[in-house]
Amino acid sequence: MKMYEPFAAACRASALPLEEGYPLRACTTLRLGGPAQYFHEATGAESLARLLALAQEHGVPVTVIGRGSNLLVRDGGVPGLVVRVGSGMSAITRSGCALTAEAGASLGALARRAAEEGLAGLAFASGIPGSVGGGAVMNAGAYGGELGPLVTRVEGLLPDGTPVAWDGADITWAYRRTSLMDSGAVLTRVTFALTPGDTEQILAEMTELNRRRAEKQPITEPSAGSTFKRPVGGFAAALIDQCGLKGASVGGARVSEKHAGFLVNHGESAADFLALMRLVQETVLRETGVRLEPEVRIIGVDA
Ligand SMILES: Cc1cc2nc3c(=O)[nH]c(=O)nc-3n(C[C@H](O)[C@H](O)[C@H](O)COP(=O)(O)OP(=O)(O)OC[C@H]3O[C@@H](n4cnc5c(N)ncnc54)[C@H](O)[C@@H]3O)c2cc1C
Repeated sequence: MKMYEPFAAACRASALPLEEGYPLRACTTLRLGGPAQYFHEATGAESLARLLALAQEHGVPVTVIGRGSNLLVRDGGVPGLVVRVGSGMSAITRSGCALTAEAGASLGALARRAAEEGLAGLAFASGIPGSVGGGAVMNAGAYGGELGPLVTRVEGLLPDGTPVAWDGADITWAYRRTSLMDSGAVLTRVTFALTPGDTEQILAEMTELNRRRAEKQPITEPSAGSTFKRPVGGFAAALIDQCGLKGASVGGARVSEKHAGFLVNHGESAADFLALMRLVQETVLRETGVRLEPEVRIIGVDA
């Protein structure tokens, strides 16, 4: 593995905390994968900008993660620098009917805050276990709602640490894809335009949606949510089920019996999980002609 000692020394000199060999499996809901060569927990946009500038100056590759709920980290871990934008950057503020959240805030906390403030529009997001930044980049959605239409402003940092901002209307929002992905920016803050609503009603809607989620999805088992995107004109879970793959496994990786769109992990090996993904994709293609594309983001290198 390429070593970046001058970068680590420059971070130490600038009082930017770095951990070496940090176990990334602890940062993901799938509980898989090797370590980050260098790991930084973001605590603010200014220090993050300085860190990104140093990484670029020293030629260190940077990977950003949020709450790790849509991530498969390979067994060999991630070379270079991994920055987590999570609970260290999670403030939420209100201005009129808008909420602005730092990118590390959880979508659950954002939805709860909106409900408490009597602001409607985010109930659909309350059970999505990701961050505001990860959710915006992925245009996360559920139960007919998506984040994109609510977003009025996104702030971030370009790979050299320069601040950048977009109006929501200037961003392309597609199904689990956005133009933010192509920018290479680390998102730091997102503003959502909401509408006045009744707190009790919004909380009741959230409770109902989360009850439906718990009934249908294996939310108590380690997973990254739906492993594959919804193909045009169909549902990944239905196709996987139709091919008789419920319960199929490679090592500790298994197609959930409860919801075939979820591949769950009861083992230690990202390679097994990737092999199961390939098995599912190949079988579904052979049996139905449909090519399933991963929704889960795969990072890092093989062991
Ligand atoms: C049980 C379960 C249920 C789920 N249900 C849903 C659902 O209903 N709908 C849905 O859409 N998703 C669902 N997901 C998937 C996941 O929660 C979402 O995709 C979520 O938006 C990912 O956010 P994250 O912070 O965990 O991102 P991560 O998994 O950490 O990262 C995902 C991607 O976002 C990028 N990213 C993260 N933070 C930033 C940032 N600050 N700046 C720039 N890029 C960033 C990463 O580089 C990576 O490419 C589910 C997952 C689980 C485990």
